[in-house]
Amino acid sequence: MRVTINEDKLHSLVCSAGNIVIFGHENPDGDSIGSALGMYHYLTGIGKNPHIVVASRLPGNFDFLIPSGAASYYNEDALACEQAIAAADLLIFLDMNGIDRSGAVSKVVESSAAGVSKVLIDHHLNPKTENFDVVISDTEVSSACELLYDVLLRQPGVEGDIEKLSLECASAIMVGILTDTNNFANSVFPSTYLAVSALQARGVDRDYLFDAVFRSFSRSRMRLMGYMLKDNMRFAGLHVAYFTLSTAEKDEYCFVRGDSEGFVNLPLSIKDIQMTALFTEDIGFIKVSLRSKGNIDVNDFAHRYCNGGGHKNASGGRLYMPLAQVPDYFESKVNEFFAQ
Ligand code: 5GP
Ligand code: MN
Repeated sequence: MRVTINEDKLHSLVCSAGNIVIFGHENPDGDSIGSALGMYHYLTGIGKNPHIVVASRLPGNFDFLIPSGAASYYNEDALACEQAIAAADLLIFLDMNGIDRSGAVSKVVESSAAGVSKVLIDHHLNPKTENFDVVISDTEVSSACELLYDVLLRQPGVEGDIEKLSLECASAIMVGILTDTNNFANSVFPSTYLAVSALQARGVDRDYLFDAVFRSFSRSRMRLMGYMLKDNMRFAGLHVAYFTLSTAEKDEYCFVRGDSEGFVNLPLSIKDIQMTALFTEDIGFIKVSLRSKGNIDVNDFAHRYCNGGGHKNASGGRLYMPLAQVPDYFESKVNEFFAQ
């Protein structure tokens, strides 16, 4: 579904703004940071002063993308984030359907930037349109990055000429498409191939980015993946597979943020498995990742049972219970969900 509100105002809002803050969602992923950086490079290219504000840093294998000083992280430097937001005359939210998905930063936006113009560019279901002056939302794209590519090409001064986008901008966009499609395994549309074809022709080094994103993990991460598959994968009925990952298990395998990226997809390669879940113990909550095939709507599951949401085939959320209780809880909700 595509929802656009005041798209024609985007250019004039950008033109009349000096300081622009770009927001990524909490627990940022490749699409979040790729789209934020794509917008960052576009804006610097037209003489603006953008700054990226995110609740926390993203896994280390994306660090190489971020120019020094381009981003502030609320959990490390709240003051820098607050100052950037206070000085902003335009706020741009990417890869999230509402301001609340920017995590702890959303409170700062509510308290000090209520009257500042806000733009949403996103590909999740149910955009909270009432909170934005401009909304460009489309669920029929692979990623926020693909949508951003489309939006940027339509901007005056670019007008369909990809050479007008810098290589840094084009590379950041490629990262989000690579990661949100899990290297073209899911959420791929005809428009996705057109976009990556043009980006590659623009000079983006897809192989380099693929290695940086998917082939830069540690040895202990590979051991952890083996352990998860051999000893930690469980089944709930014929069609659902899931893992739990405790803090003790993370410690045993020298876990760093990003190490469990991709694990939730692995059981989808089993014939007849239609839905998967990964429950990861965190401080004060259990992080939930859900994936599915075809018509199984894990966005609905995440909304109903996991305090979350996302996309039909890829969603997430949080549970507030001890990890030991999660298998019983999840299996009972799976039974309820599939009985409907
Ligand atoms: P992941 O499993 O990769 O963390 O997240 C998959 C999808 O679910 C992403 O599109 C993300 O936006 C969404 N998602 C993850 N965690 C949450 C959450 O706590 N709340 C909501 N509403 N969506 C989430
Ligand atoms: Mn995304």
